[in-house]
Amino acid sequence: MKILSVNAGSSSLKFTLIELPSREVLASGLFEKIGLADSMYTIKFNGQKIKKEANLVDHSVAVSKLIDELLENNIVASLNEIEGVGHRILHGGSEFTQSLILDEDVLERISKYNELGPLHNPANIMGVKAFMKVLPDVKNVGVFDTTFHQTMDEKEFLYPVPYDWYEKYSVRKYGFHGTSHRFINKTISEYLGRNDLKVISCHIGNGGSLCAINGGKVVDTTMGFTPLAGIMMGTRSGDIDPSIIPFVMKKTGMTAEEVVNELNKKSGLLGISGISSDSRDVEMAAEEGNEKAILAQEMYAQKIANYIAMYNNLLNGADVITLTAGVGENSKTMRKMIVDRIQSLGVKIDAAKNDFRGEFRLISADDSKIPVYVVPTNEELMIALDTMDLIS
Ligand code: AMP
Repeated sequence: MKILSVNAGSSSLKFTLIELPSREVLASGLFEKIGLADSMYTIKFNGQKIKKEANLVDHSVAVSKLIDELLENNIVASLNEIEGVGHRILHGGSEFTQSLILDEDVLERISKYNELGPLHNPANIMGVKAFMKVLPDVKNVGVFDTTFHQTMDEKEFLYPVPYDWYEKYSVRKYGFHGTSHRFINKTISEYLGRNDLKVISCHIGNGGSLCAINGGKVVDTTMGFTPLAGIMMGTRSGDIDPSIIPFVMKKTGMTAEEVVNELNKKSGLLGISGISSDSRDVEMAAEEGNEKAILAQEMYAQKIANYIAMYNNLLNGADVITLTAGVGENSKTMRKMIVDRIQSLGVKIDAAKNDFRGEFRLISADDSKIPVYVVPTNEELMIALDTMDLIS
């Protein structure tokens, strides 16, 4: 069965065509600058790469182009081979607790949460509508970043603020990266042959979040009402004292939106190092002795370690710790810095085992109290698997 896994942005559309159950990636690609003068796309398949400029006036035109290319390059022999399209949707509020088949009515219900995910949700919905128009006979499935976290208890998802903020304005913790954390939990649970695992899943990429999972249910996660909360990230601050916002507004004359924008885009690794949001650049500068880069790395590792310790307590002892995403999968330096900061939990890294990138592997020492694994994430595959389950 061939499934398209899609992530639509406001001016982009990323896709992966996956064969299931073999999990083989048949093609993947990106349509960029949709609606702009210099739109283009790249498609990779079978060791080849196509890169073309095209007049992609909207997402429907991009989807039509995608279909044409799949047929012309014999990636699919006929459109009937595409049995489903799975879409990444950022926000399903408290209403959507699992992936589901999309129709006009469901899209209307999802659009109620555009206010909570203004950069992503309208674009995600636009992507779905483009597929509905171009492939009207193919089923579309919505896979949300938020649904996995809907198993959190009220005592974890509520903020200690006036209760009517939650009742009137839906102010609560939603959490994000749910599809990644769910994939990691599924992968490690299958590998260890258990469905009752207590997992601390650390998704550390440009964005980052941790998730405490007990037997497949989320107990807590670090991102909150928005993805700004939790650990320090590439450009996001993570948790700060909210009183800083009006204080900085008064000092600088910035609006609240402008300050929050700085917290989202100019903080984190970038804000402290003054060099880059990319952990590779910060790592290189730190190796050369740049003090701000060293400080940024130490803060970054410490905040992750602190949450791991907190989640170990919340889970009353974790069975396994997993690291994933760009930094977790690739940076042996950051992995060591994090694990070295949770020695109070009896966790130890094995330097030789840690010397690799981008694979599923155990990196902790034999006598580590909690095993630590690197588990590459695959949100596209998770979306495709949900789609297969729902349309079958
Ligand atoms: P993601 O958001 O998951 O794509 O992750 C992006 C982050 O992963 C960036 O900060 C990259 O610098 C980081 N990353 C990717 N490859 C490496 C590497 N080899 N070493 C260190 N960091 C890396």
